[in-house]
Amino acid sequence: MATDPCLFCRIARGEIPAQIVYETPHVMAFRDIAPQAPYHVIIIPRDHVATLNDTRDPGLVGRLAIAASELAEREGFAAAGYRTVINTNADGGQTVFHLHLHLLAGRKMGWPPG
Ligand code: 5GP
Ligand code: ZN
Repeated sequence: MATDPCLFCRIARGEIPAQIVYETPHVMAFRDIAPQAPYHVIIIPRDHVATLNDTRDPGLVGRLAIAASELAEREGFAAAGYRTVINTNADGGQTVFHLHLHLLAGRKMGWPPG
């Protein structure tokens, strides 16, 4: 619905502009508005799922991971390396409740994460 309050559903429908970098029938990816690395994109399923707790579909979760590896390959980060992150609920640091996978690259990542 046009009144759907979910931010990433609205981006998926084109109601809110985003720099889209990858699209398949099930998945899309766009640049994070507040990048935490030289390359930082958000990969989402087009259909709404609030958190990782809300799916048991290995296809859905797998498509997010495959999108990340394809983007890393395409952008030239695959060999050097990159970070993929799914934040879940409060302690995980999730702020947008539409399941998404962060792909960060272009710098050396620290461990443990904050
Ligand atoms: P979370 O904290 O839920 O794991 O990640 C949410 C991410 O969405 C954050 O990195 C934040 O910068 C990004 N974000 C929030 N609002 C927008 C927006 O309107 N457009 C885009 N492209 N990214 C957003
Ligand atoms: Zn949504």
